[in-house]
Amino acid sequence: MNTKQVKAYGTEAAENALEQMNIKRREATPSDVEIDILYCGVCHSDLHFARNDWGFSVYPVVPGHEIVGKVARVGEGVSKFKPGDIVAVGCLVDSCRTCDNCKKDLEQYCGEWVGTYGGHDKHLDLPTFGGYSETITVDQDFVLTVPDNLDLAGVAPVLCAGITTWSPLRHWNVDPDSKVAVVGLGGLGHMAIKLAHALGAETTLFSRSPNKIDDAKKLGADAVIISTDEAQMEAAQNKFDLIIDTVPYEHDLNPYISTLNTDGTLVLVGYLGPLDPIVHSVPMIMGRRSVAGSLIGGIAETQELLDFCGKHNITSDIEVIDIQYINEAYERMLKSDVHYRFVIDMRSLKG
Ligand code: NAP
Ligand code: ZN
Ligand code: ZN
Repeated sequence: MNTKQVKAYGTEAAENALEQMNIKRREATPSDVEIDILYCGVCHSDLHFARNDWGFSVYPVVPGHEIVGKVARVGEGVSKFKPGDIVAVGCLVDSCRTCDNCKKDLEQYCGEWVGTYGGHDKHLDLPTFGGYSETITVDQDFVLTVPDNLDLAGVAPVLCAGITTWSPLRHWNVDPDSKVAVVGLGGLGHMAIKLAHALGAETTLFSRSPNKIDDAKKLGADAVIISTDEAQMEAAQNKFDLIIDTVPYEHDLNPYISTLNTDGTLVLVGYLGPLDPIVHSVPMIMGRRSVAGSLIGGIAETQELLDFCGKHNITSDIEVIDIQYINEAYERMLKSDVHYRFVIDMRSLKG
């Protein structure tokens, strides 16, 4: 396998800051697309993975799974893309392609899915390295087309923050009759509000941060509930059909569950880990309410979302940064001080 060295930003250990490093990328195999990366969004998962918050990181870690770039070269078997095309890569770069989930376009639930970073690159027998880098080489079946009316930096977060909230909105059939709530106004939360609003749903934000109320309304929220205000929480009982909970850390779900209507579902997309305090069964039994989880989205669904964003002119609200700012960006993300997604201009890595 022919390889080349490219510049990247990553870390060798959980306690280290991110720094410049060289990584190996494969040259295009017949079915591969080699992409020069233009922009890469900064997801809270990047921070969790760089710091081994979930306990399964493999080092070195090069994060980044909200990638927009320009095709540099294609393998001789590639029919879907040509050099110069603007393309995108999200959280997945491969899967088994034969299991029931793969056949149903649910590659994210395939037992052998390969994450854009921290997965296993079967070609090189190395961890996969993400988008904080100059280039990436990806099988054409996992490369997406970017609608040509969208701002390229602003579209990057659609590849994770967008699809992770779109997938539950679609799975739970959100439409103009739905009442949707979103917990947490960060990267995922702000895309969830835009997308639920664009689907016509009545959309509410639960936030700890009163200073985000005006922004939430500009993003498309009809109402904001301050989650630490018991009177506001009490007034919202039995209301929502779907709650998308994007909070990254342990928190009490019980106050949110009782704001679900009969048959309502709270979908966890943020926090990975045991629930503490324990979820009380009475509100679930009395209202046939559910607590569920959801992981990113499949390739076809991600293309569906990109096309929807093209049609509705939806992109993320972003702060463009240079790669050299990444460690400060992580600290600001921990303080929920992002409006509402950092996107790295990857030209800064060349300089
Ligand atoms: P983010 O930009 O940091 O936003 C998280 C928001 O949650 C914050 O802005 C804040 O909103 C709220 N929040 C933060 N800490 C909190 C706490 N301790 N208690 C209550 N609320 C808190 O993060 P993100 O990039 O949107 O990612 C959110 C989570 O989703 C991360 O854990 C990430 O790993 C995960 N994720 C999951 C998937 C999946 O497939 N399931 C995909 C991507 C990301 P307010 O200030 O409004 O309260
Ligand atoms: Zn992500
Ligand atoms: Zn599979």
